Amino acid sequence: MREETIVIGAGQAGLCASYFLTQFGVPHTVFEAGRVGESWLSRRWDSFCLVTPNWTVQLPGVELESFDADAFMSGDDFVGVLRQFAESFNAPVQTGSLVSSVTRRGASGFEVVTNGETRCASNVIVCCGGYQFIRKPQFARQLPASVEQVDVSTYRSPGDLPDGSVLVVGSGQSGTQIAEELSESGRDVYLCVGKAGRIPRRYRGRDLSHWQLEMGIVDRTVDQLDSPADRFRGDPHVSGRRGGHTLNLHQLARDGVQLLGSLSAVDGPKISFTDNLAENMKAADDFSDTFCRMVDDYIEEKCIDAPLPDDENSDFGGGTGPCPSSPGDLDLGSCNIRTVVWATGFGFDFSWVRFPVFDEFGYPKTKRGVTEVEGLYFLGLNWLHTRKSGTILGAGDDAKHVVDHLRQTRTVPVR
Ligand SMILES: Cc1cc2nc3c(=O)[nH]c(=O)nc-3n(C[C@H](O)[C@H](O)[C@H](O)COP(=O)(O)OP(=O)(O)OC[C@H]3O[C@@H](n4cnc5c(N)ncnc54)[C@H](O)[C@@H]3O)c2cc1C
Repeated sequence: MREETIVIGAGQAGLCASYFLTQFGVPHTVFEAGRVGESWLSRRWDSFCLVTPNWTVQLPGVELESFDADAFMSGDDFVGVLRQFAESFNAPVQTGSLVSSVTRRGASGFEVVTNGETRCASNVIVCCGGYQFIRKPQFARQLPASVEQVDVSTYRSPGDLPDGSVLVVGSGQSGTQIAEELSESGRDVYLCVGKAGRIPRRYRGRDLSHWQLEMGIVDRTVDQLDSPADRFRGDPHVSGRRGGHTLNLHQLARDGVQLLGSLSAVDGPKISFTDNLAENMKAADDFSDTFCRMVDDYIEEKCIDAPLPDDENSDFGGGTGPCPSSPGDLDLGSCNIRTVVWATGFGFDFSWVRFPVFDEFGYPKTKRGVTEVEGLYFLGLNWLHTRKSGTILGAGDDAKHVVDHLRQTRTVPVR
């Protein structure tokens, strides 16, 4: 059997790896369980659009002429970009190929099993993303069967849900975007608020992504984090919809969304909340204030000619206000809550990669994607190397690093 390099996953990370392997003539195959861009195709809701501006879509060799750089393309548009990217270099993607195991073969090779077929590989690059499934609390099972349960990867649109009120659990980026959409569609929405921060879409005349790039926030490296657990922190809530805008819990409350403390227990139709709404809303406010102060300090330090913050050049999402009170518990029936949307964070499972390269969280231990097992690599994960490693903006750089390492350390046949 011919030895080759196998890439697992045809999202932005896998396609970037394939791009550089192709550039350097390294024979390889990309095994993709679904289709190119499957995560964006089948795990995002209908109105989904990027939260990062189009200029952050920096895939190697790709020019985005037809998109406004400061706008936010839809998920479908991004899938189109990924398909064009793959076609532009004839990426050898084998779709419909779920990899069920990666094991050792001989002294230094790999056996990769997909669709019951075993392929031999001299190198394996795992690009399966870190947002693989929604982590739901155990007590989710205790909800009445009459209540529809969806999560942020299965939610599609307000019209797809049974009539009635909706409870969204989790105020991260996805949860808050979905709560806003449901509220705007006329639904009665209940939102369990968690620890996620708020970040202003625009501040002192520029989009947050510009400031994050210029201030080096996206280039912070994983070793600068206080704790390894910080790699799994949810992103602050913000939106790319309607040209991009700030999502503010205070404004959602003013618009009629019932804010609640974190969901703490489910006993059939009775659901209970932790008494932490005020604390969590303050945490969201503080997150936004901290970001604004960091930008202010940066502007001063660099003597940047930026306007003082006002409602023209900054988007505070309607500003703060008194914290609404949350009941300690609710009866789903009397609130006519017919659907629960779980927006409680993502999990990952790499147990099918049978090598001792994982930390106490089950997360790959790598140096910028390079593991201690020669020829085994990971790409596309949050904080793999920097803050941007798990985003579209960071996929290309890390892929180049991994393919350079692979070429320098492994004997790869070159076409
Ligand atoms: C809701 C949401 C919104 C996001 N919005 C943005 C944004 O606006 N801007 C931004 O920069 N980033 C965003 N991200 C972060 C990140 O860019 C995405 O998670 C992106 O999908 C990661 O790309 P990836 O290639 O690493 O993984 P994925 O796109 O998830 O691709 C992994 C691929 O691997 C395949 N796969 C998985 N397991 C196997 C297997 N065993 N065998 C074969 N194939 C397999 C999957 O089918 C999938 O196609 C968002 C993430 C989420 C969850």
